[in-house]
Amino acid sequence: MGPERGAAIGEPMTQVHDHGGGVRSLRVPIPDNPLGHTLVYVVDTDRGPVLVDTGWDDPASWDTLTEGLAACGTAPSGIHGVVITHHHPDHHGLSGRVREASGAWIAMHAADAAIVRRTRTTRPERWFSYMAAKLTAAGAPEDHVAPLRAARRPSGLPGLSPAAPDREIVPGELLGLPGRRLRAIWTPGHTPGHVCLHLEEEHPGRLPGLGRLFSGDHLLPGITPHIGLYEDPDDATATDPLGDYLASLERVAALAPAEVLPAHQHAFTDAPARVRELLAHHESRLTGLLSLLATPLTPWQLAERMEWNRPWPDIPHASRTIAVAEAEAHLRRLVKLGRAEAVAGDGVVRYGAA
Ligand SMILES: [Zn+2]
Ligand SMILES: [Zn+2]
Repeated sequence: MGPERGAAIGEPMTQVHDHGGGVRSLRVPIPDNPLGHTLVYVVDTDRGPVLVDTGWDDPASWDTLTEGLAACGTAPSGIHGVVITHHHPDHHGLSGRVREASGAWIAMHAADAAIVRRTRTTRPERWFSYMAAKLTAAGAPEDHVAPLRAARRPSGLPGLSPAAPDREIVPGELLGLPGRRLRAIWTPGHTPGHVCLHLEEEHPGRLPGLGRLFSGDHLLPGITPHIGLYEDPDDATATDPLGDYLASLERVAALAPAEVLPAHQHAFTDAPARVRELLAHHESRLTGLLSLLATPLTPWQLAERMEWNRPWPDIPHASRTIAVAEAEAHLRRLVKLGRAEAVAGDGVVRYGAA
């Protein structure tokens, strides 16, 4: 879906951008996805190049990564280490192949590493029945839930057997890259273990500010990342991912980096201004939702009434599941703020303005 990039005649297959100071980015395509590509960063160290994210696990994406590394004068076999911003398959998909080729270590925050472990070990039936129960409690109609109950895990899909990381990214600590200062900044919200990576070195173009920030999906120049729920069949805690995300935004604004190097779209400056935009966007969205809660609604009913990029009847099944999670994340934030309250009854939870 969406316009495809990269197929235009005359456009180079591999697009390497040199950001200066021993940092380059490669545009690794995400097949059939309107996002188009993941920006994989190649950071030179004294022990060889380190990658920040790796891209989607697909033969064409692997070829693009390989070509891009060749244009940087290296190869998958020459990679020293892999730093993962978060576990999503457009970021972590090719990590296993890079490690096979090179023996590189893979580093990830413990909370996302736990999701990877769970994905590798949870029986698909358990996962689908957990999702079905959650959707039912969120007010989803039977025709939405029934396909999940009948589902079987399709084999060979990417993201279903992600590579287990071998190093933990510890918030606030340097990653120990020889000859570089790269510090982990924990930015939960988009995922529980999302990290941004702060390159605490002078900007190569002497832009004002403090170093450069690899922002993953946390801070993007033109789009807002999906904020849903931290799905975990083993944990019944009512987490507040949207609250985590907003606090994480404040945290990266306070770093005041000279430049942001995100995992999608393009590099940009003035992170605090972008953070202010996003905080204002979420505040107005929360206020807008509150006006819909004069009569209590289930998360499903709220999702039906929220504004999406197309009318609700045109949203496909999988995207509706994501939309309901996003509605519920907003409801949990409103409850935490004391602006809404949850009312349980007849197997579903409804939320009304407080
Ligand atoms: Zn993501
Ligand atoms: Zn992404």
